[in-house]
Amino acid sequence: MGRLWRREVWRLTLLVGIGALLGWPFSLTSVGVGAGLTFGLAYHLRNLHAMHDWLTHRPQQEPPTASGLWGELFDRLYRYQKGQRITQRRLRSTLQRIQESSEAMRDSVVMLDRHGDLEWWNSSAERMLGLKPALDRGQHITNLLRDPRFVGYFNERDYREPLSLPSPIDENMILQFQITLYGDDERLVMARDITRLHRLEQMRRDFVANVSHELRTPLTVLTGYLETYGDMADMLPERLGKGVAQMQNQTRRMQNLVNDLLLLSRLENDQGGDDHTRLDPTTLLQTVKRDAQALSGGRQQIEVSIDDPRGLKGSEKEIHSAISNLAFNAVRYAGDGARIQLRWRAYGDGACLEVEDDGDGIDPMHLPRLTERFYRVDKGRSTATGGTGLGLAIVKHVLLRHDARLDIDSHPGEGATFRCIFPSSRVQENRQTAASP
Ligand code: ADP
Repeated sequence: MGRLWRREVWRLTLLVGIGALLGWPFSLTSVGVGAGLTFGLAYHLRNLHAMHDWLTHRPQQEPPTASGLWGELFDRLYRYQKGQRITQRRLRSTLQRIQESSEAMRDSVVMLDRHGDLEWWNSSAERMLGLKPALDRGQHITNLLRDPRFVGYFNERDYREPLSLPSPIDENMILQFQITLYGDDERLVMARDITRLHRLEQMRRDFVANVSHELRTPLTVLTGYLETYGDMADMLPERLGKGVAQMQNQTRRMQNLVNDLLLLSRLENDQGGDDHTRLDPTTLLQTVKRDAQALSGGRQQIEVSIDDPRGLKGSEKEIHSAISNLAFNAVRYAGDGARIQLRWRAYGDGACLEVEDDGDGIDPMHLPRLTERFYRVDKGRSTATGGTGLGLAIVKHVLLRHDARLDIDSHPGEGATFRCIFPSSRVQENRQTAASP
């Protein structure tokens, strides 16, 4: 380009020079220079006009022929345009393929712009969400999917977990919504029909609840008889007496298991979570402390500390059950001589109920699975101390119903801290008010 540019400058200088030379004999040098410049200008104007004409009227066609710098400019522009056209064609066909494959998908796909207005959706979205092509384009998604749970999920902008809801046009159809943020704050809403899965899950829950319920009566009868036989232990032969004591132990275990299973299925089945009763953490933790002390039998030191003046909103029975589970676990697993702290304190915007012990702790590799049903680090120890393997699963469910989460922090030999973290919406500003009815 530098070479061509120099040539262009030479061309103009030459024109001006020739003009000056021709004018000089007649003492009209400046007229000659002017004429040279005019020629140069005319040449450039002609090429500029050709370029404008080409780009305006026939940009797809070959460029006008020109030499020097202008020829190079035309060539480059032409090549650039050609490249752009190929890229455009490729993008268009990719877009078309994406739309075709989305169209063929059984899941709903809805594309929203950065304001949350509907841009494009596939036919499954029409069938599952009731979107109408003629009417709904450009509408805000929350005008069409009005369920407050969806609106909350959409506005929250935390899409790590999916949301399950009945379809807005058929409440028997259960949809799982998942939102993805992409590009310039645009969003992709995907909805999957999980009705079958939901029904199976419901069947599993009903089955567990029914079996547990049905086991209750026979277990009560067995326990009753075993208690009577236990009272007559001195009248029974020694071997039989031992057997009765063992049977009593096992029926007690089964009863605990049935009770925990029933509690879990009640927590799962009951939508609940709207209980915002005002709780006083001091009363709650003092009650749990008394029960834990009874279980500990003085083998551990149990303390309560209240480091936040605010109260808590939730179901007293459920939160009491969750914290009792954590405190009883600490008593059962921390070992003799351990120090157990029950604490209420501020945590981020909200607050947390914390159970901390300085016992044997847990290897971090177990932590992600600890809240799974029947997951135990040491099965023998759990069974020997009367554990059902459901305690932490119950805690997790109670917390879920209170918009809270369980955080476990532990290392072998360094004790364990179980933290129930409540959001600010579950924290009562003034505990004095909270304690009043
Ligand atoms: P379990 O009925 O077996 O106690 P949980 O669900 O309550 O069932 O607890 C799961 C497992 O977590 C327990 O078996 C135990 O190994 C471990 N665990 C719970 N709390 C503690 C603790 N404070 N210290 C050490 N291990 C604990």
